[in-house]
Amino acid sequence: MRFGPAGNPPSFQTAGHKSSLDMPAWLRARGLNAYEYQCVRGVHIGEGTARQLGRLAAENDIRLSIHAPYYITLGTADDVLKEKTTGHLLKSMQAANWMDAAVVVFHPGTGAGEDRRETLQRAKKLLGEILQQAREMGLAQIKVAPETAGKPAQLGNLEEVLELCDCGPQVVPAIDFGHLHAASGGGFTGEEAFMAVLDRVEAHLGREAVRHLHIHFSPIEFTRAGEKRHRTTLEPGFGPDFALLARLLVKRELEPTIICESYDRQAEDALVFKQLYEEMKNADK
Ligand SMILES: [Zn+2]
Repeated sequence: MRFGPAGNPPSFQTAGHKSSLDMPAWLRARGLNAYEYQCVRGVHIGEGTARQLGRLAAENDIRLSIHAPYYITLGTADDVLKEKTTGHLLKSMQAANWMDAAVVVFHPGTGAGEDRRETLQRAKKLLGEILQQAREMGLAQIKVAPETAGKPAQLGNLEEVLELCDCGPQVVPAIDFGHLHAASGGGFTGEEAFMAVLDRVEAHLGREAVRHLHIHFSPIEFTRAGEKRHRTTLEPGFGPDFALLARLLVKRELEPTIICESYDRQAEDALVFKQLYEEMKNADK
């Protein structure tokens, strides 16, 4: 099991740290062991820094992942956007290669439009082409993970994410339970909803895929249009409840990576989740 934050939390900066290179040791000192490096505004990290981060992460037993830029729109019909999307994903994969990161998470993007099927077909075609280019660049071993979307209007419901995974063994799902909860109008209030997702991933991709799933988790506020903003475990009334998932992880002996995206409390809430999981595990013995 791995727990860690998305990006650098304010508490890290308050402690006087500026560089992400300080994150691996800082996380380890707190009992965390995963870190999702944020490239959401573009991939700006150079090779030297990326390799150094990778080394420090390995030394501190931190599993690295990368969150690719938000500007990706896999389902676009526009040639300029296709080229930009390709660039963002390939640059993220290149950085992942330097860092030895386990996976590049990305949002399939907007543009579900009138015909979702057509958008999805375009997305699959473009992803296939990008992966072909990645192989030519020597990046065949880098995994990419389309993430479940927080709004129903976005491409990336669970079925669409699983279908994108059909593009090849390099593609694995990123399951954001906060997003699924928001996109379903608050559907994740019982264990069954979580179980259904794990079952569906296992049926489509097999036991190993579900065992080592890449998961995003945070309390979330939503409207009828889906995700509004990420919240924290300190704010009552915002689901989903991590305890529901934690119990299932113990029962099914799963060992996913849990990346916490709680607003400004991504490391603190990652520890809250870790503690909940450990309580469930000890109660199970
Ligand atoms: Zn995301």
